Amino acid sequence: MSKVGETTLVLDLSALGHNYNYLQSKINPETKFLGVVKAFAYGSDMVTIAQKLEQLGADYLAVAYVREGVLLREAGINLPVLVLHPLASNFDDLISHHLEPSIYSRNILNQFLEAVKTKNQTDYPVHIKFNTGLNRLGFSESDINLIAEETKGNGNVKIVSCFSHLAASEDINERDFSLNQIKSFKILSDVLKKKLGYTPMRHMLNTSGIINYPEAQFEMVRSGIGLYGYGNQDEIDAQLKPVATLKTIISQIHIIGANESVGYNRAFKSKRLIKSATLPIGHADGIGRLYGKGKGSVVIKGQKAPILGNVCMDMIMVDVTEINCKEGDEAIVFGPANSAEKFASRANTISYEILTAISQRVKREVINQ
Ligand SMILES: *Cc1c(COP(=O)(O)O)cnc(C)c1O
Repeated sequence: MSKVGETTLVLDLSALGHNYNYLQSKINPETKFLGVVKAFAYGSDMVTIAQKLEQLGADYLAVAYVREGVLLREAGINLPVLVLHPLASNFDDLISHHLEPSIYSRNILNQFLEAVKTKNQTDYPVHIKFNTGLNRLGFSESDINLIAEETKGNGNVKIVSCFSHLAASEDINERDFSLNQIKSFKILSDVLKKKLGYTPMRHMLNTSGIINYPEAQFEMVRSGIGLYGYGNQDEIDAQLKPVATLKTIISQIHIIGANESVGYNRAFKSKRLIKSATLPIGHADGIGRLYGKGKGSVVIKGQKAPILGNVCMDMIMVDVTEINCKEGDEAIVFGPANSAEKFASRANTISYEILTAISQRVKREVINQ
């Protein structure tokens, strides 16, 4: 890896390839693979990741919002792109960039049908989202008649898939709930298929679903976090490789005497003589204040250095009393040497949150293309 001169998020595309192959090994060869690249590809670099997934042979991509899909199209990505949460105000952009909407409510269905009619579209690909227990977005069984009636015959849209989302795929204690969701989804998709007279693809599994419920892979799976190297379980994390490494350098070292304090609000007060290192990364870069006061630690020279006191906007101070280090030395916030999942869990959050939090101010560097 290259030498760090400033805070950098290093993206290892060979790790992405490894994770993609690992996830593929968990599903049947004929099952399609959708790579989720929403939120800047989980805080990394959406276009770079999408290009690599296209090259690896992914069948589909998904983003949350239309604006994200537009960025993919402007970068020349040609794969079909499912927009998980389109809003009616963005339908013009969605259609002109040939993005495929998730249709999740009667309201959205009617507004989308209006939009495709106005634009004289035929067989425009759409995806029907069913709510099977997450209670976030999606139709219920009582809506299926309407979906079939409104879409059949008019020729403006074609339902290419129906899908649903598990609420607790990573939680073994909720296995019965998940199995019930899968059962309902099967019933709902059967009813839809009958009413439509043709057979849309079905998909329901996210990363932990692929691991824990492979019998429910249907015709496609949707993976996000696994591609980026995290699997919500230690045994799976051991098989995956983190794509992103967040590193920075020590800007300055201070010797702090007993009864002195460090940082804003004097949130750390020293009981003894210690050594602190100031790093050029703060909450504006994505290291939230929840990581302050010892919750988060970086790794310097292979050793843990806990955050002292409050996280500042542009800096943190870490305890390096026991570490033989100097100004200009490297500090790893997370990566293979300090898993983002472990970093996050000490502050009671999850890998998804810390990964997607890394702000656009942080330089991205791509390696092993
Ligand atoms: C974000 C998302 C995914 C990806 O989930 P991971 O746990 O990251 O694999 C899949 N499906 C839907 C609907 C999502 O919103």
